[in-house]
Amino acid sequence: MPELPEVTTTVNGLNEVLPNLTIRDVWTDYFLRTTHKRLDTIKNEKYFKNFKKQIIGEKVKVVERRGKNILIHSSHNKTILIHMKMTGHLLYGKYNFDGKIWKSKEKFLSDPFNQFIHFVVGFSNGKQLAFSDMRKFAKVILFKTDERDELSDIKNLGPEPLNGLSLEVFKKQLSKRPNKKIKTVLIDQEILAGIGNIYSDEILWTVGIHPERLVKNIENDEFKKMYDAMKKVLKKGVEMGGDSMSDYRNIYGKKGNFQNSHKAYRRTGQNCLKPGCKGKIIRKIIGGRSAHFCSIHQK
Ligand SMILES: [Zn+2]
Repeated sequence: MPELPEVTTTVNGLNEVLPNLTIRDVWTDYFLRTTHKRLDTIKNEKYFKNFKKQIIGEKVKVVERRGKNILIHSSHNKTILIHMKMTGHLLYGKYNFDGKIWKSKEKFLSDPFNQFIHFVVGFSNGKQLAFSDMRKFAKVILFKTDERDELSDIKNLGPEPLNGLSLEVFKKQLSKRPNKKIKTVLIDQEILAGIGNIYSDEILWTVGIHPERLVKNIENDEFKKMYDAMKKVLKKGVEMGGDSMSDYRNIYGKKGNFQNSHKAYRRTGQNCLKPGCKGKIIRKIIGGRSAHFCSIHQK
């Protein structure tokens, strides 16, 4: 699932191309292709009809990230929220609909991960934002911009890890779950917004903390190390254009590079890369998610 660095990469890309463009058309086949037709998203046909009516003619102002959500703010107090969930990513380019599927001459479409188009927004410059979502778990909704703080998708999120978060607040947030395992707490969006499975594994490997350690047993100096590692790892993810080990691609359909610098995530069975460590990376399900960690230096 795209995490803070991937969503940031997408949002930065969108901010280079979308502001001042007017929305001319919008299309989806979600409600034809999925059985989970939530009433309050575009996966419901009636909701989508109203969404379409509301959004055509809107001019994009700016695109923002909050946690793993993409917020496309437009004129007239309207915001489109897109949560990419497991396999979604936005692609920008020139597309044509042949009556059945969306096609493009853009080179990146030869990548199979870019071919599952289920939502398309057309703009005044003749280009489209096409949403590829292989497993169709994504969420797309429209809301009034000035009601964002009441929206459940936004209001329950913890602070942003990179935007001026202090060590004190970081510690205070994690300490809200003293009896839970640190891996589970790091990916809890109500504690910190934007960290998921990849970056939590990398942060814990960096600081040598076992993913099953309970938060109440983490020492003060370890909180400091974890705080520093979190910033370093997330910034590196952003600098590398995100992680494309799985489906994620940037808005031009290209892969990020963070998957080439994994120390723990999906390195099961391989030697630990920490200098001098003789451990191997093991995989274990913790709180329903796969954790990858070193058998020796993470304690
Ligand atoms: Zn190790």
